[in-house]
Amino acid sequence: MKYLQDKIAIITGGARGIGRAISTEFIDEGAVVIIFDKFFPDDFENYVNDVKNKGGKITSKVLDITDTDETQKACDEVAKEFERIDILVNNAGITRDKLLLRMSVDDWDSVISVNLKGAFNTIRAVTKTMARQRCGKIINISSVVGLIGNAGQANYSASKAGLIGLSKSAAKEFAGRNININCVAPGYVETDMTAQLNEEQQKTLLSVIPMKRGSKPEEIAGVVAFLASEKASYITGQVIPVDGGMVM
Ligand code: NAD
Repeated sequence: MKYLQDKIAIITGGARGIGRAISTEFIDEGAVVIIFDKFFPDDFENYVNDVKNKGGKITSKVLDITDTDETQKACDEVAKEFERIDILVNNAGITRDKLLLRMSVDDWDSVISVNLKGAFNTIRAVTKTMARQRCGKIINISSVVGLIGNAGQANYSASKAGLIGLSKSAAKEFAGRNININCVAPGYVETDMTAQLNEEQQKTLLSVIPMKRGSKPEEIAGVVAFLASEKASYITGQVIPVDGGMVM
């Protein structure tokens, strides 16, 4: 038996990058995946067709997770259609990197709004259903910079540190309802997000990674799938770095 068999899983920002790798891993393990994303790349339709041709179950919805009412509505629709929500992965995230002195209020607000308020919106929207079921798994994708900070990423680091505080508080509130809430903190993952870094920035990053390489999105997805499964039933309120040894 696959270890996420028939689990109903919402993944935000699952249209590409790490979120798509999580979607693929979940489908391979038997889950029914619902992707919420604001933007869908051109190859997404091919991805969905490929998944369906192989017998996988996937649906998607255009959703901006910063919109509280629309997020509640979308989660309610999932609960109504599938009669439960087993897993939520808060993966959607953005960067607006600048040194603090040059960072505009808009740079600050937009990153906090997607990365932190967005996760608050989805967690609040699904926990009623999970509490009623008396089980659920929530995995929030933070970042190592939420643990150690990073010059040029005050907004992003604050949002990812905030996500850790949100996760730990929610973990304490919902532990009695058998809802496990954890964070995964990736280091440097090869996706469109990090493709924006110039050669100099990539070199600097690699120099502080003991394993001397970035990770593939699949190396993050495997850990997320573990935390989403019953194998992780006694883990809650934790932050798991997946970073080639960057933070230890
Ligand atoms: P990505 O930019 O490739 O994908 C992010 C996804 O989030 C996109 O599909 C985007 O459309 C979606 N999104 C953005 N704003 C949204 C909104 N308002 N509503 C719904 N969806 C929205 O990024 P990625 O590299 O795959 O990163 C995924 C997550 O992992 C992010 O939270 C990121 O901060 C985190 N992370 C990435 C790295 C890395 O090195 N790539 C490292 C640490 C943490």
